[in-house]
Amino acid sequence: MVDFNRLEDVDVANKRGLVRVDFNVPGDDIGHITDDTRLKSALPTINYLRENGAKTILMSHFGRPGGVRESGASLMKLVRPLSQLLGAEIGFAPDCIGAATQNAVTALKGGDVLLLENTRFYKGETQTADGLKGYDSDFAEQLSGLGDIFVHDAFSVAHRAQASTSGIAANLPSYAGLAMERELDHLSQALDVPRRPVMGLVGGAKVSTKIDLLKNLVAKLDRLAIGGGMANTFLAALGHNVGASLCEHDLTGTALEIMENAKQVNCEILLPIDVVVAKEFKVGAAHRVCGLDEVLSDEMILDAGPNTVNTLADAIDASQTLIWNGPLGAFELVPFDTATVEAAKYAAKRTRAGQLSAVAGGGDTVAALKHAGAADDFTFISTAGGAFLEWMEGKVLPGVESLKKRG
Ligand code: AMP
Repeated sequence: MVDFNRLEDVDVANKRGLVRVDFNVPGDDIGHITDDTRLKSALPTINYLRENGAKTILMSHFGRPGGVRESGASLMKLVRPLSQLLGAEIGFAPDCIGAATQNAVTALKGGDVLLLENTRFYKGETQTADGLKGYDSDFAEQLSGLGDIFVHDAFSVAHRAQASTSGIAANLPSYAGLAMERELDHLSQALDVPRRPVMGLVGGAKVSTKIDLLKNLVAKLDRLAIGGGMANTFLAALGHNVGASLCEHDLTGTALEIMENAKQVNCEILLPIDVVVAKEFKVGAAHRVCGLDEVLSDEMILDAGPNTVNTLADAIDASQTLIWNGPLGAFELVPFDTATVEAAKYAAKRTRAGQLSAVAGGGDTVAALKHAGAADDFTFISTAGGAFLEWMEGKVLPGVESLKKRG
């Protein structure tokens, strides 16, 4: 398990708590927020700090303004919705550094909340003074001067070392916020010390984007089910004709290598045993279920077949932990969502019954599980895309490293 600094380790009363949140919320063309999930996930930490008398200073990036002020990327539009969610007025500083911001921070009393303007209005957030990838330590120092402690509550940016994350963590005592804590506890539980047997279910379009993830999972799991377009590359590697399916023929060698690695560490690989094929990639396209060696040259595999779903259900039955990333088919196109929906519902049922711990995340996975109506029953769903995938790849996340307890 990752042993990191938690908010409960520090007395926050009257301290200036500089909190990195991810308020990069989706919006429409006229600046309305279309999904406030990210605001809501910051509430536990903000409420904790308020209730314990801290002066809360919120910091986030928004969009990609590239170091210039851009009115469309201002965080001002979040003041009202966030105040409403909190049930308390919050302040806004129209800059994230500088004398006026410093004054606004100095005026805070215990329990107050201040939102700073977009950190990406400064190039130093993501670039060194020489214009290289990283961050400008002078800018990080100016941000750090606003707080007594740093609270990192944005797992979704934990894979990036930027001024408002690693830069501040280098200067201030740093703690995981409550959303970060929940994320790290669940992911660490699932991958580092899972209840075994532990199963992975990895789908999605391409092997090429998930080679490192597959290699890392094979080394850690008892069984790994591979689905979606990426399964076609594995099937082709085993000599099956995948017709006109999405398939990375140049990666069949990699697929064989992953299967060989799995054999050596006793990780069982599950591939589709039957498939749903169609000649058109569109909603409601004429389709049929067929065996692996019955795919015609002008047909595409768009989903796993019913026998495959049954083997997945058996594998889920035989597992205590499930880690899921990626859909099993072209789930946006009904009826090619069937295997994803069935498998997700089954995992949800086992989780509800207390027989499975199911963790999911990354890319389209959240949308797929919501579509299946299974999301609420999963033990934990990470909304972090890139950071979740890098965690699954076994990479070191700078945002997590900076929170680790030092012995
Ligand atoms: P990813 O972002 O790698 O998780 O891939 C998700 C995408 O993979 C979704 O848009 C699915 O429609 C697509 N996908 C899954 N299975 C297939 C398939 N058999 N053929 C084509 N696209 C697929």
